[in-house]
Amino acid sequence: MAARYETLKDKFLVPPGGWVYKDVHTGAKIEGGSKHGLIRMVMDYRKEKGLPCGYDLSFQIEHQICRKLPPKYVKNRRTAVTEQILTMHEVGIKTQKLLTDWTKGGRALVEIGKVKERSEICQVCKMNTRVGCLSCRGVDKHLFSWLGESRRTGYEEALHVCKIGRCYIMAMVHMELRDVPDAIGVTDECWRRTETYEHKH
Ligand code: SF4
Repeated sequence: MAARYETLKDKFLVPPGGWVYKDVHTGAKIEGGSKHGLIRMVMDYRKEKGLPCGYDLSFQIEHQICRKLPPKYVKNRRTAVTEQILTMHEVGIKTQKLLTDWTKGGRALVEIGKVKERSEICQVCKMNTRVGCLSCRGVDKHLFSWLGESRRTGYEEALHVCKIGRCYIMAMVHMELRDVPDAIGVTDECWRRTETYEHKH
């Protein structure tokens, strides 16, 4: 299980930013004095709120912390493997199709507050896969030429490619649910899943 998640090189060294976890369901920030203290606090919090505490919750907490840290703090940064899986060519083609279909479907955009909420979830998601610097390669410029420059939120550098659907996240987060790839295979915390659920209930 641990191999799916990034882990800290030194579990006793306080990471830059501290032992802080942002609950993916409620958005509450929980701060502990140590890694184990934080895990205990998150579990207590989630139990109190009636939220599930899956068997891999401790891995998810550590993974979320790692995703905000530079590689020198992280034991198994998930880059090398995923770069083999994702080819830029494939991602480029899939994202271009997404943008073209979205344009044909009326170019509906969600409000910026929702884009930020989604970006918060994606930035710590294990499916958010680094594929090099998108800004250096002009990818972000290209995407915002479709979306509109005013749609930038500041999260762009933290958003890469979603392994599920294989499109650039910084484009998907602006679109209505009906215009993004379906939620099959996404994480439980993914907005593509939770918003689909909210939509149906
Ligand atoms: S699975 Fe969902 S939350 Fe994770 S990166 Fe993809 S779109 Fe974002």
